[in-house]
Amino acid sequence: MNAVELTRRIVRIDTINPKSPERPCADLLGKLLGDAGYEVRLHEFAPGRASLVARREGGGKPLAFVGHLDTVPLGAAPWSRDPFAGETQEGRLYGRGSSDMKSGVAAMVAAALDLSRAPLRKAGLTLVLVAGEETGCEGAAHLARVPGALGEARAMVVGEPTGNRPVVGHKGALWLRVRFRGVTAHGSMPEKGKNAVYAAARALLALADLRFEVAPDPLLGGPTLNVGTFSGGMNVNSVPDEATFTVDMRTIPSQRHAEIRARIQTMLGADAEITPLVDLEGIRTAEDDPFVRTVLEATSAATGEKQEPGAATYFTDASVLTPAYGGIPTVVLGPGEMALCHQTDEYCLISRVEAAVAAYAGIAQKVCGA
Ligand SMILES: [Zn+2]
Repeated sequence: MNAVELTRRIVRIDTINPKSPERPCADLLGKLLGDAGYEVRLHEFAPGRASLVARREGGGKPLAFVGHLDTVPLGAAPWSRDPFAGETQEGRLYGRGSSDMKSGVAAMVAAALDLSRAPLRKAGLTLVLVAGEETGCEGAAHLARVPGALGEARAMVVGEPTGNRPVVGHKGALWLRVRFRGVTAHGSMPEKGKNAVYAAARALLALADLRFEVAPDPLLGGPTLNVGTFSGGMNVNSVPDEATFTVDMRTIPSQRHAEIRARIQTMLGADAEITPLVDLEGIRTAEDDPFVRTVLEATSAATGEKQEPGAATYFTDASVLTPAYGGIPTVVLGPGEMALCHQTDEYCLISRVEAAVAAYAGIAQKVCGA
């Protein structure tokens, strides 16, 4: 199977999350993998929202290739290309999801099909291609909840766009909504009310001064915090009875989100109603882990460039799947371009798609004994 042609075929299937369910894309890939001897199961977390798990047994716990089938919307700006045609020009393949991350999915499936007749002496091979990543890893979380859906794995490659550079860690995201309630009163008699904006503003400023007191990660740096929105009150002449702000924290893998949330609740007091909007911890695999070395070697051979372990700024399904598989070694590696994710006129480089197939096949040959 030609991975570039397969990328084009799945770019032509609109899987914009949430309006266009992933099922047709999962069906197409499931058919290809099923015909090649993989045991294929689809799991829907909502009607049409299908994730696919395809397995071949081998001599030991499988290697997992992980990707997502959904894309973000097209955005407000007009495209100069048809986002669902998969047009190619000057070495580029255009379309929504071409970089993030249908080229990665296609390269993983193509590598799996290429290896479908090879004996897997050391380890099986599992593909986990999920729905609903872009809205907070819904498909991965669903698979983690369904007993037996994921099976076991010894190591994982996530095919998110890295321009074929192996990435051994990414930060986590903890997004919180903090709400304060008060008592409204006429603006001329504020002593009769309880001002929710004042309470929220004090809490916000306290939070902005929060120090995480954790050693920075050599690749990822330290955690960050940003207050993104603030709203409160109805009109100028009333005491506001409600005020809300949202906080975006990017954590490092040595931090536990439950501890951060407990600390913030204590700091802001019982009046603060704290709701998590996104709660995904970071991941990190040591540079000298044998699996990382295998990935670096296979990727160096496939790209003809010496590869070093890097880090990413985004989060991936690994935030859910790596802990679900018991904290296995995880590397993010995919042919898409990081800078083109979610952009107008998104494209991927055809040469990188072909190199990614070789890298994935090389990793599978080493780990699975294929
Ligand atoms: Zn993605």
